[in-house]
Amino acid sequence: MGLTCNMLGHKWDGCKCTRCGAKRDEGHHYELIGYYDFCQEVCSVCGDTRNRKEHDWEWIQEECIEKCTRCGMTRERHSYKTVEGQPCTKKCTVCGKEITNHKWNGCTCTVCGEVRDMEHDWEWISEGNYTRIRRCKICGARDESLKVTFEEMERKRTETYQNMDEGIY
Ligand SMILES: [Zn+2]
Ligand SMILES: [Zn+2]
Ligand SMILES: [Zn+2]
Ligand SMILES: [Zn+2]
Ligand SMILES: [Zn+2]
Ligand SMILES: [Zn+2]
Repeated sequence: MGLTCNMLGHKWDGCKCTRCGAKRDEGHHYELIGYYDFCQEVCSVCGDTRNRKEHDWEWIQEECIEKCTRCGMTRERHSYKTVEGQPCTKKCTVCGKEITNHKWNGCTCTVCGEVRDMEHDWEWISEGNYTRIRRCKICGARDESLKVTFEEMERKRTETYQNMDEGIY
């Protein structure tokens, strides 16, 4: 408490003293504010909050949004329908926005069979007599970039032995 306020008492503007900055729990200037999953009243002077509630969403279908009837916050909500012949794709009947939701088992969708070039379940297979390549157990994709020929295998093996001889592991 400042010296002036000590003698004269605080000079309150709502919940806050304009002279020394002291706060009191009355006279707040509450404003309704949307904040992530909630809306609540927040004092614009001291930041005190009250009446925290979940949003009261109202779907405005023709605009593809939901709007909170209290704080006015909006979020997207579409009228999705599954696209014929594409079991993993849904399309909004109003604005045309598409979402795709595959059920991936590694590289392959278990619902529609689509394959993506990631999370393959690689195994090494021998091709011909001496070449080894990686092949995906699930979709059969082949990774030739890591193809190892017999000559290279021999060279690696020799290098390994040399390193062991020299004590490098
Ligand atoms: Zn004061
Ligand atoms: Zn306040
Ligand atoms: Zn709200
Ligand atoms: Zn939409
Ligand atoms: Zn799919
Ligand atoms: Zn695969």
